Amino acid sequence: MKVNITTPTKSYDILIDKLPEITINKKVAIITNPTVAGYHLNYLLNKLKAKELKIITLPDGEEYKTMEYITYALDRMFDAKYDRNSLVIAFGGGVIGDMSGFAASIFLRGIDFIQIPTTLLSMVDSSVGGKTGINNKYGKNLIGAFYQPEAVYIDTHFLSTLPKREFAAGMAEVIKMAVMFDEEYFENLEKEALSIEEIIKRSVELKAWVVNQDEKEKGIRSVLNYGHTFGHVIENLTNYKTYLHGEAVAIGMVMANELSKELGYLSEEEAERIKKLLEKEGLPTSYKIKDVEEFYEHFFADKKTLDNKIKFIIPESIGKYKIVENIDKPTIIKVLKKFAK
Ligand code: NAD
Ligand code: ZN
Repeated sequence: MKVNITTPTKSYDILIDKLPEITINKKVAIITNPTVAGYHLNYLLNKLKAKELKIITLPDGEEYKTMEYITYALDRMFDAKYDRNSLVIAFGGGVIGDMSGFAASIFLRGIDFIQIPTTLLSMVDSSVGGKTGINNKYGKNLIGAFYQPEAVYIDTHFLSTLPKREFAAGMAEVIKMAVMFDEEYFENLEKEALSIEEIIKRSVELKAWVVNQDEKEKGIRSVLNYGHTFGHVIENLTNYKTYLHGEAVAIGMVMANELSKELGYLSEEEAERIKKLLEKEGLPTSYKIKDVEEFYEHFFADKKTLDNKIKFIIPESIGKYKIVENIDKPTIIKVLKKFAK
């Protein structure tokens, strides 16, 4: 299966299949981490032929998604005399994908890179769309570039070793796409009617459809933030320790659904169906807000909150998104209070 991405800067394919034999007549740097390399590096090396090959291993964890380790990766490439014609392969989850893409985007002002995502989240979300970046002390993903890869190879073989919880976190982004854009897809997820390849393909198609219209998030791409406005606050309030990103987004979707109900869009029944599907995938759907005012204030700590206006992405119904702005504070507080009991 193949999905094409066409943005003003590049056109490339996302292949969803068993990893093919890849021959690259260039110096190649595989950027990975010890976890992924331990399980799967041999599998990749058996399929890959390159003019020269270097493996750059970064420590495993979001806390290492920093400029320090970008510098480290770039230095390894300079040490090995890599040049403008060299290529980076990102081999890992979203952290490795975001870092490798960013490193490729600034090495000698930009060299080619290929994504080989190994987590469900990176297959359905972060490897598609060309956002790359790192964190700093001011926040997550504040430094980065829009930089599209030459290709993305998605092989579900890698998921065999992925911890259940990480898999579920990826499913949160899948359910997000279904609720925003595709009722039939949502129903198929409810019925468990799709193989994992089919699930990934539909998510990737939907994300590609969004990115092809709006690479730089000036419009519809912001719909991908369904569940994220609330989710980011939860991640912040729990210091990124309690929940995986996808888990916080799952709770965030439930909160956004409450807002939608409050505004008279989503029905109680539809909200229940979404919650049930999240729970079936093993995702959390409840969270106790200790202080609603504090929670509300945190909306404004987000870089995406321009001019102190919060933009909420909510489902109007299953399969149909709605962007709402200028919601008055009492309405939001009323919704938050439902989670404070
Ligand atoms: P991750 O990269 O940290 O991977 C999760 C864990 O699974 C890690 O410990 C990793 O080593 C391990 N792992 C990876 N593949 C494995 C496999 N096949 N078997 C066993 N273990 C494996 O996290 P993630 O959820 O993949 O990605 C999260 C990151 O993605 C965040 O930094 C987030 O900011 C970023 N992100 C980026 C975008 C984007 O558009 N660029 C979108 C969403 C998220
Ligand atoms: Zn997300």
